Amino acid sequence: MTAPHVSFEFFPPRSVEASFRLHETVQALAPLNPEFVSVTYGAGGTTRRLTHEAVSAIHHTSDLRVAAHLTCVDATRAETLAIARDYAEAGVQDIVALRGDPPKGVDRFAPHPDGFRDTCELISALKDTGDFTIRVGAYPDRHPEAATDTADVEWLKRKIDAGADAAITQFFFEADTFFRFRDACAKAGIDAPILPGILPIEHWANAKRFALRCGATVPAWLDHAFETACRDGREELLAIAVATELCSDLIDGGVEHLHFYTMNKPHLTQDICRALGVTPEVHLEDVA
Ligand code: FAD
Repeated sequence: MTAPHVSFEFFPPRSVEASFRLHETVQALAPLNPEFVSVTYGAGGTTRRLTHEAVSAIHHTSDLRVAAHLTCVDATRAETLAIARDYAEAGVQDIVALRGDPPKGVDRFAPHPDGFRDTCELISALKDTGDFTIRVGAYPDRHPEAATDTADVEWLKRKIDAGADAAITQFFFEADTFFRFRDACAKAGIDAPILPGILPIEHWANAKRFALRCGATVPAWLDHAFETACRDGREELLAIAVATELCSDLIDGGVEHLHFYTMNKPHLTQDICRALGVTPEVHLEDVA
């Protein structure tokens, strides 16, 4: 099995302690030589400044290529493009362009009166700047707002046609879910890379809650396995085994790049990467 390319997602820290944790996580995962790392933008646009600070910190203190998530929520077009311009001026060349989740307590996305109405509008405007590699979200399990079973594929095609360079998927639990989606995308004429998003499961109850919210199917066998593992204190061992098997199946099926939702914790991601043959790059000058 050839070792895959990897990338890592982080979220922006909200406290000094969390900043240290993010810094340690970045330090721990950087030697795995990710193609890029990305920093999320809080639901409802709540972490605009914190995302910018975390992106800048990683950009200035490491050699990593860092992608800033940017959403359409609660901002005018001018405000959103000003954020993008700041990134470009700072040398950040990668954006993950999303419609975004609404703020807590609000059910559905409603565009700002002067804002981007959907992801395609945001992508086109970012593309016009000529400054960015643009990645977008994709949904192997049906997105809760998809009108039909094929709507997510059709919409992804629209996003790629609007100028997106690649897609990163929401997490999912079975390789076949990804392969079905990838095949449907190919049939729809999407030839941009689609990177599977992998969630190392730190805490099963939280992962299940998160899956329910974003529409990811939870297989009964997995629920049963984690219930047993939690009872026996083997949750972490199972999490590593399950994610490693999922990733191996994806690689066997031709996937060359895996994107990990690290939740700002390095250990599970490190262990899974190690099992897949993604090992730290050691330079001679570091050991001589
Ligand atoms: P879209 O792909 O634009 O829409 C999702 C689905 O809704 C589409 O597949 C389609 O079925 C339907 N849809 C939406 N608009 C239309 C339309 N105009 N016409 C027809 N169908 C439509 N959220 C955050 O708040 N901050 C983040 O940093 C963040 N990072 C993410 C990273 C990744 C890799 C992923 C997969 C998701 C992330 N999210 C984030 C969550 C995301 O914001 C939500 O899933 C949101 O509900 C959809 O955003 P999107 O850009 O993927 O939506």
